[in-house]
Amino acid sequence: MKIKVLDTTLRDGEQTPGVSLTSMEKLRIASKLDEIGLNYIEAGSPITSEGERKSIKEITSQGLNAEILGFSRPLNGDIDYCLECDVDAVNLVVPTSDLHIFDKLKITKDKLIEMSNSAVDYCKDHGLTVEISAEDASRSNVEFLKTVFLNAIDHGADRVCVCDTVGILTPDSSFELFNSLRDINAPLSCHCHNDFGLAVANTLAALKGGAVEFHSTVNGIGERAGNTSFEECTVSIDRLLPDFSTEIKINEIYNVSKLVARLTGVYIQPNKAIVGENAFAHESGIHSDGIIKNSATYEPMTPELVGRTRRFIIGKHVGTHGLNSRLKELGLDVNDVQLQQICDNVKILADKGKTVTDVDLQAIADNVLEINHLDRIKLIDITVVSGNRVMPTASVKLNIDGEEILNAGVGIGPVDASINAINSLDIFRDIDFIEYHVDAITGGTDALIDVIIKLKKGDRIISARGTEPDIIDASVKAYISGVNRLLGE
Ligand code: MN
Repeated sequence: MKIKVLDTTLRDGEQTPGVSLTSMEKLRIASKLDEIGLNYIEAGSPITSEGERKSIKEITSQGLNAEILGFSRPLNGDIDYCLECDVDAVNLVVPTSDLHIFDKLKITKDKLIEMSNSAVDYCKDHGLTVEISAEDASRSNVEFLKTVFLNAIDHGADRVCVCDTVGILTPDSSFELFNSLRDINAPLSCHCHNDFGLAVANTLAALKGGAVEFHSTVNGIGERAGNTSFEECTVSIDRLLPDFSTEIKINEIYNVSKLVARLTGVYIQPNKAIVGENAFAHESGIHSDGIIKNSATYEPMTPELVGRTRRFIIGKHVGTHGLNSRLKELGLDVNDVQLQQICDNVKILADKGKTVTDVDLQAIADNVLEINHLDRIKLIDITVVSGNRVMPTASVKLNIDGEEILNAGVGIGPVDASINAINSLDIFRDIDFIEYHVDAITGGTDALIDVIIKLKKGDRIISARGTEPDIIDASVKAYISGVNRLLGE
C-alpha cells in the first residue's frame, strides 16, 4: 500500500513555541520537501497575517509537484484568504469533540455540521481540493465523527483526517479508531501529536487500521511535545512495515532534518532516532568491534540509507579495534604498541570527563608517535604560581640527557614564566620561539587545549604541538616536543 505524506512543518511545526520563519526560509523548506517527494505540503495559515500570506504565495508560485494546502477554519473569510494565496487545497479543520464544540465554539452539533458542509461547498465552488480534518477526533463520539465525515464527503470533500489533537491515543486505540472508519468512502488520513511520545507508534497503528495518509513535521516539531516525526515515521514504514511504502527519498532525510533544525533553531536531541547526533555513533569497544566485522550486529539499518555516515566515538569505552579503524580513516598507521599507548591516553582523557573528538585523537596520536623518538629532554614536573598580585613564577624539573635539573623563571603570565624557566637552560640556548598559537578544541572552560608553536634553530623551522586539558602543560609539552625534534634530527 502506497502511503501519502502530508508535511505540516510550515503550519503545525511553525506553531512550536518560539519558532517563526521568514518567507525565504519557508520557501527553502518547502522546495526541499517537494524535492524529496512529499505528496502534500501545508504551507501555512493564510488568515494569520499579511506576512504569512506572502510566504504562502511565494511557495504556490514555484510550481512545485506537491499539492500545496492552506489551513482554514470552516469560515468563508478564511477560505477567501486561501484563495488569495492560490493554494491547491485547504486543510479544513472542524472540531468534533463536545469539549471543542460546546466549550470553545459554543455552538450546537447541528450548527457545526452546517458550517462544515457549507465550507466544503464554498471550497469546491472555488475549485479547491478539500481535506477535512476533524480536530480532537480522538476524544469525539465516533458516530458523530462519521456523520461529520459522511456529510463532508457528500458535499465533495476529497479526503478526511482524524486528528489526535492532544496525543491521547495508544497504538491499540489508534488502530481501533481507524479500523472503525475504514469503510468511509474517501482516503483516510491521520494527524497525531506526541504528548505521550506515541505519535509515530499511533501513526503506524493508524495505517494498519486503514489510514492511507499521515501528517508529520520534520524533526517532530510542533505545539507542545510536537507532531509525528516525519523521519522516524517514514523510515519505520520503509524498514518495519513490509506492506506499506511512501514516495519519500529517504536518503535525503538527514539533509532536510538539518535544514529545518538550522532554520527553526530547534535543535535535535542527540539520541533522537534516525537524525540525532548519536543515532549512528558507536563508542563501546564490544559494539565497535562487532560493527567493523558486520555492521548489522549493532545497526538496524545502514546510516547511508538515511544519508548519514557511521561514527565511532572515541571515549572511555573505546576498544583498540574501533580506535584503529578511526586512526586509519585519519590516515594514521600505528603499530600495536603505539595503538595501545594511544588507547591508554584516550582513556585517561575520557576519565577526566572529556569528549575525545577526531582533532583530539589526532593530537594524541601525534604525541604518541613523537614520544617514540629518542627524546633528550623529558618533563618531570612543573609548578606555576600566578595571580593578579604576584609575578607569575614557574619552577620546572626536567630530565636532560639522563640528568635531573631543576630551574625557575618569571614572566608576564604563567605560560611565559614556564617557557622562561625552561629557556634559561643551556640546551635551549640556540632555540628561537617564533610563533605561539592556542585553541580550545572542545569548547567550555574544561576544554582540551591545543597549542601549536613554531621554533627555529639556525635555519631550520619546525612546528610542534601539545594537547592537554591545561594550557601550561600543553604549551610546555609542545615546546619540549619541538625542541626534542630540533635536537634529534
Ligand atoms: Mn496539530
